[in-house]
Amino acid sequence: MTPQLDGPWQRASAGAGLLGADGRPADTIFAEMSALAASTGAINLGQGFPDTDGPAEVLEAARQAIADGVNQYPPGRGMPVLREAIAAHQARFWGLHPDPATEILVTAGATEALAATLLALVKPGDEVLTVEPFYDAYAAVIGLAGGVHTTVELDLTPEGFVLDPGRLADAITPRTRAIVVNNPHNPTGYQWTREALEALVAAAERADAVLVTDEVYEHLCFDAPHIPLATIPGAAERTVSISSGGKTFSTTGWKIGWLTAPAPLVDAVVAVKQWLTFVNGAPFQPAIAVGLGLPDAVFDRIRDDLMMRRDQLGAALSDAGFVVHRPSAGYFTVADPAGLGLTDAASVCRTLAHEVGVVGIPVSAFCKPRLAREWGGLIRFAQCKREDVLTEACERLERWARKS
Ligand code: PMP
Ligand code: GLN
Repeated sequence: MTPQLDGPWQRASAGAGLLGADGRPADTIFAEMSALAASTGAINLGQGFPDTDGPAEVLEAARQAIADGVNQYPPGRGMPVLREAIAAHQARFWGLHPDPATEILVTAGATEALAATLLALVKPGDEVLTVEPFYDAYAAVIGLAGGVHTTVELDLTPEGFVLDPGRLADAITPRTRAIVVNNPHNPTGYQWTREALEALVAAAERADAVLVTDEVYEHLCFDAPHIPLATIPGAAERTVSISSGGKTFSTTGWKIGWLTAPAPLVDAVVAVKQWLTFVNGAPFQPAIAVGLGLPDAVFDRIRDDLMMRRDQLGAALSDAGFVVHRPSAGYFTVADPAGLGLTDAASVCRTLAHEVGVVGIPVSAFCKPRLAREWGGLIRFAQCKREDVLTEACERLERWARKS
């Protein structure tokens, strides 16, 4: 007889909108849309992963590490060479100086860093605030921890997506235990302004909330420099800063992430993390260390290359009749086909996959029901794809738009 199966998994799946009508977990929207692309042969501008390799030095370093026998469990907090490289990276790019011995933790991607942090700090009933739309993992992990997921919605204005610092401050209550700050933001490419970050820090201090960043797109900022939250006065002592090598070095499958925070916060997260994966990715850790130490020019090239593709995709979507909400950072462009008479993104995405040969993701997948209704027409397209792949996708979209 099957045992009674109720448990936290239901909260996690429900939080991420994954519990189907049959009570079983559905695929994440990213897995679902990648499967749709595979089954229809459509070009996958859905799930955010690059279709080219990153810097050759990084790949070679991983091959070399395997050949050198770096194939057993690394230390629990991460290999010293990587923790040193993370410290040097934080100093070089952001003027921050975490101690590699006590203030840095290597994790299985940004995802584990986030999960371990929230599971360590959020008690049942605690509020955890995120911006909405939000990356699906946040809702899932908050659910697993038994927390209450509160959100502050972005506004969509003629200038693009903006966060109102006043409403942000109002959303932080005495029950707010943690605030997840995704900057640059997935799916919109919004970059937090200094004003919004300062309002956040002041309100977090009042509520004594922990700040948890997700900065996986920190090196992919096109229009404005990245401002790490931990550099805002008053933030560092209550901030867990999270990033990963996947996006910057096009190694999303390696899952090498990290966090930096004051030592007591790192200790709390280690206490959970060591019972999740314990460790991961031994040969990839020194390889990401090589990546973090590459010259500035390499980081500039990675950013400029992606920026060209943002512009290519944006121009083509616009030619095809979409209103394009140009992202100032990151892997994705949000566009609106309302001008083509199309207002239901979920159905447009099905048509695009089956009839046009292009897969995108409805932005409603990142929203609670109210905002999902208001933004029900918006679609997220990934620009982190080869130029010829984007060109083909754009031609398909333009041909389809001319016909419809
Ligand atoms: N945070 C955001 C905002 C993301 O878009 C992603 C995935 N692409 C992740 C975290 C996951 O990062 P990782 O693969 O390092 O776990
Ligand atoms: N972060 C990726 C995206 O937003 C997806 C990662 C995943 O599939 N979980 O597309």
